[in-house]
Amino acid sequence: MIVEGAIVDADGPRTGYVRFRGNRVTEVGAIGTDSTRGRQKRIRGIVLPAPVNGHTHLGDAVSDREPPNAPMAEIVAPPNGLKFRLLRDTPPPAKVRAMRGALQRMERESIAVTLDFREEGLEGIRQLRAASRGLTTRPFILGRPLQRPIDVGELGRVVRAADGIGLSSTRDEAPADRRAVARAAHAAAKPFAVHASEQVRESPEEYLALHPDLLIHLTRATRSDLERVARSGATVAVCPRSNGLFGLRPPLSDLDRLGIPTLLGTDNLMFNAPSMLRELEFAYVSSRMQRRPISASFLVRAAFVNGWHWLRKPDSARVEPGVRPAPVAFRLPPEDPEYQIVTRAAEHLMIHPETRSD
Ligand SMILES: [Zn+2]
Repeated sequence: MIVEGAIVDADGPRTGYVRFRGNRVTEVGAIGTDSTRGRQKRIRGIVLPAPVNGHTHLGDAVSDREPPNAPMAEIVAPPNGLKFRLLRDTPPPAKVRAMRGALQRMERESIAVTLDFREEGLEGIRQLRAASRGLTTRPFILGRPLQRPIDVGELGRVVRAADGIGLSSTRDEAPADRRAVARAAHAAAKPFAVHASEQVRESPEEYLALHPDLLIHLTRATRSDLERVARSGATVAVCPRSNGLFGLRPPLSDLDRLGIPTLLGTDNLMFNAPSMLRELEFAYVSSRMQRRPISASFLVRAAFVNGWHWLRKPDSARVEPGVRPAPVAFRLPPEDPEYQIVTRAAEHLMIHPETRSD
């Protein structure tokens, strides 16, 4: 099959064609130059790298009730917020089933990787590995140790088993504990991620002192905080739908203006389905509604390109012959392709993960 129209990848948008054989890309080029000389079926559409979900809490999939209209801390703050009580009260097999269901939902959108904050120590990491067995959506697990003060043995086991570390926020941790956790991640050359300035502003000295590779939210960060974040080189993950539920919004236009590498995440599974396409649409439309419009191009990079750079797999952010994982194709008009993706993509996915084998 040949998809003819637009390609949008790390090199930006351009016209072109992509030839797929099964789930593999075998040719990419200018329209009219493909080797089949018109003998193969072609579809007008847009091809992009597979998306990376920049932030999830898959464990929350155990809840399928409307979250109470309560302060966010009562719902998600460790150790006794609603979500942590739910996690404690749910037997492990049910938790594994719920997380697997969430990953399968992401497979339907061809999401290749999800950067997941797994809260429940070593056991939580093992449960998520078990839940993801055999699926094409791969969790990149940002684990966390449970003991406070930090138990060095437990911390070492968590760092070894996880792909990186993800902490709740600097406010929730004693300074010595958060420093020990960040140091252990850096020493193992694994990413360190932390929520920052979500419901209340936190001092950038405190979270940047940990040399984070990934900051989540920054909804309450000031402009000068964001300038410091830009200088630190950290990547930021934003979750517009989850923020919106609590009357917050991510500082999209400042992130764009300052050139801060930004990922798009779908956050807690108890709030939203983990759909990147819905997240894109909400981010775009709500930014216009707030009269702080963000470009479709910025959002498309956040969903389809920047995640691969953060994972240090830049080749996966290019639509080229042999690229892994397989790119995704949408049956959409190729004019203004980034706009089509953020506003119309949800119903038009053509390349389904069933046809992929990575
Ligand atoms: Zn989060």
